[in-house]
Amino acid sequence: MTGAVWLVGAGPGDPGLLTRRGADLLSRADAVVFDRLVSPEILELARPDAELIDVGKSSGSHPVPQEEINGILVRLAQEGKAVVRLKGGDPYLFGRGGEEFSHLTSCGVPVGVVPGITSAFGAAACGGIPVTHRDFASSVTVITCHAKRGSSWKPDWKALAAVGGTLVFLMGTSALEEIAEGLIGAGLDESTPAAVVERGGMKGERTVRGTLGSIAGLARSAGVASPALAVVGGVASLNLDFSDMLPLKDLTVVVTRGASDAPRFAGTLARWGARVLVRPSIDPRADFSSPALSDFRPGQHEWLVFTSAHGVEFFFQWLAQKGWDVRAFAGAKIAAVGPATARELEARGLIVDLVPDVFDSAHLAEALAARKTSSAAAFRAWEATDVLSREMARSGCRLDEYPLYRNEMDGGEVGSLSADWVTFASPSAVRGFVRRWKAPGARALCIGPTTAEEAQKLGFQTVTARQASFESMTAALLELARSEKATQKERAN
Ligand code: SAH
Repeated sequence: MTGAVWLVGAGPGDPGLLTRRGADLLSRADAVVFDRLVSPEILELARPDAELIDVGKSSGSHPVPQEEINGILVRLAQEGKAVVRLKGGDPYLFGRGGEEFSHLTSCGVPVGVVPGITSAFGAAACGGIPVTHRDFASSVTVITCHAKRGSSWKPDWKALAAVGGTLVFLMGTSALEEIAEGLIGAGLDESTPAAVVERGGMKGERTVRGTLGSIAGLARSAGVASPALAVVGGVASLNLDFSDMLPLKDLTVVVTRGASDAPRFAGTLARWGARVLVRPSIDPRADFSSPALSDFRPGQHEWLVFTSAHGVEFFFQWLAQKGWDVRAFAGAKIAAVGPATARELEARGLIVDLVPDVFDSAHLAEALAARKTSSAAAFRAWEATDVLSREMARSGCRLDEYPLYRNEMDGGEVGSLSADWVTFASPSAVRGFVRRWKAPGARALCIGPTTAEEAQKLGFQTVTARQASFESMTAALLELARSEKATQKERAN
């Protein structure tokens, strides 16, 4: 039985702009045949064992000829494979999708099409230009600046100048002078707004604005390179830029927490414009095998100390297993390392007596010492650091530690991620992540100094939140993204 080929539009570049149908097919395909303009982030959606064939790569400077691509698609399908033919933008807009469709069907290969967001509209929109606007344009013409091999590129400038509305030129980075000359020669005013959008919707996106008379020179001095498109017409004077409102736009941020707190953190990051990848790197699970736990007797400690929300969760599981409930601890005071842990306790009807001003173990120990604590029981992860016990010992307080759960995730196959930031809320998350993923060039955003230390040890450049909370991690990232954007802008000017 033959396989089948799906012609899939990848959109302008950002994986978020690929259709769900396209992503779904891509994640199942046996083979993916892709063009030059398909971004690596999108290819990461393919199965790790899928055959990836780059037909945009040049041997010399020419991409693989169309006949050869047709041959590759037919061969893969005849081998019984589910093939995704992935094209930038929309497969039928200057994408040769129609030619491939006809060839495949004539060879008896089943074909399907998944439209994509064309860069002609989508990349322009990302660059701040709506291709129509009731005040400026009620039609859009999309023009290629490439001719079929063997013929020369000769647009009908008179017709284009006469049609009015918006003109969008694709593949025209090196033809801007010609476009301007052609349109001015055909009667358009030199002062007609014109803009060039480079890498619309992708990292490094830039929009250069000017007029028909100035745009070629402006683009040249700005060093605009492919992929870029030119927009001519009143809409090119608009600048519907949203990047300042979304400082994390263009950043890919990995959240390494599990199902319990990933959605809220991921939601906050996405609200500020980030593209979020959730890759759980801890696997919290109960382990009540510590001999310390079997020796535990309620009523022996003045304070019960919780250093994580998971700690609270597993404490109650353990109580239930013991056949106890909170009445066994009547009279004990309760300390939580930070607000998330406190919330978990309060959700179970407990009033938290102490949360330190700075949410980490060292400050928790300090706050307990200030209360002249004589004895405390800490319910924690097996992998917890010794900061709390060390600091408590220094203040002469007895701290008994009761490990209740393990965080560490076992190794698996190592995959690669394109990301700008990986967020870590514990050293165990750093270890779990590194065991499974490579994220070349990504920096680590850490919840506190101990986590940062682990991340540095494992090769990350780090930034540490002021407070140990997801809110504070988000704030640190926003602050940094804003200042880095400002520096970039300064450099560009
Ligand atoms: N089928 C594609 C177009 C292929 S032609 C589509 O529907 O978008 C390739 C041209 O598209 C490039 O030379 C450039 O002019 C334009 N293009 C593609 N991606 C772009 C992007 N992210 N930003 C600006 N222009 C882009």
